[in-house]
Amino acid sequence: MTEYNGYSFFGPSTLKELLEEVALFDGSIAFLAGGTDLIIELKKGKKKPHLVIDVSQIPELNGVHEENGFLHIGSATTFSQLARHPLIVEKGLCLAQAARKIGSEQIRNRGTLGGNIASASPAGDCLPVLLVLEAMITLQNPDGVRRLPLSQVLQGSGRTCLTPNELITGIDFPVLDGGYVSGFEKLGSRTAVTVAKLNLAAVIKVDQENHSITEARIAVGALGETAFRLPDLEQNLVGEINPFLLHLFEDMLTETVDNAISGRYSHPYKREAIRGLAEDMFVNLFGASSVPGGRTHG
Ligand SMILES: Cc1cc2nc3c(=O)[nH]c(=O)nc-3n(C[C@H](O)[C@H](O)[C@H](O)COP(=O)(O)OP(=O)(O)OC[C@H]3O[C@@H](n4cnc5c(N)ncnc54)[C@H](O)[C@@H]3O)c2cc1C
Repeated sequence: MTEYNGYSFFGPSTLKELLEEVALFDGSIAFLAGGTDLIIELKKGKKKPHLVIDVSQIPELNGVHEENGFLHIGSATTFSQLARHPLIVEKGLCLAQAARKIGSEQIRNRGTLGGNIASASPAGDCLPVLLVLEAMITLQNPDGVRRLPLSQVLQGSGRTCLTPNELITGIDFPVLDGGYVSGFEKLGSRTAVTVAKLNLAAVIKVDQENHSITEARIAVGALGETAFRLPDLEQNLVGEINPFLLHLFEDMLTETVDNAISGRYSHPYKREAIRGLAEDMFVNLFGASSVPGGRTHG
């Protein structure tokens, strides 16, 4: 353990070591993963923990594997790893797409999936994605382990259900195969390192033979305190794929924006912008021919 800038610093190399220290330590603790959010908060004095524990060097918290039809991701896995991991690209593509669109290369090399969840930003890019993937989050402290759906972990802007000494250890979700397509779209400002002004994630199950959608999961971010799913829209998308589906998608997303942020400064802009994201999403999921005039996805 070393002293730094008024707090103690500990860098365990196993989860066991970490949990033993957490059990013994009498004072406030902050877990440090990539540090892309936490370091800023420490510098600004927004957080003043007695102990900072670096979780980035613990092998159990790092990497992706498949087991019994689920993808398991260690909480300290970085966006760069997620963006190119073959299992994520093949069986959870929307997460790879979100990871590729986060911040700058430096941020992607440091920032982690666990940090994105724990920060609970309304605009966190992986949060709508994990909602449509129906991800479960595993939390652990010295007293035990619990596994909760993300919707229960997220409690508001910057707020989660984590207790002060609780660590996110992993994220898992059922693999997407057998007819599933998925995608992520985001609207930021022109600078590469900005957080999203709107983000949109989708998982769709397509029955190619009958040219229909048999299951739809849609979630949006940056429209409220936390990202959220859109059950009415999801229900309406199920059925035969027809030329009017994009209009329905755009109209119901616009209605979502109206209901979520009516009267806010950003409302007129976001209700137009979401239609563009809807179109991008259709091209992403179904190809250029799915939108009027056809175009490439970019
Ligand atoms: C320039 C810049 C650009 C950014 N762009 C984006 C963007 O495009 N999209 C986006 O979503 N975000 C963006 N962010 C925000 C940030 O990069 C992400 O939220 C990232 O996921 C945070 O992860 P981290 O590993 O760096 O977390 P850290 O900074 O290490 O930690 C963040 C918080 O989570 C807690 N924490 C971390 N790991 C755990 C764990 N395993 N268990 C419990 N608590 C934990 C920490 O204690 C802290 O409270 C950006 C940030 C910057 C500075």
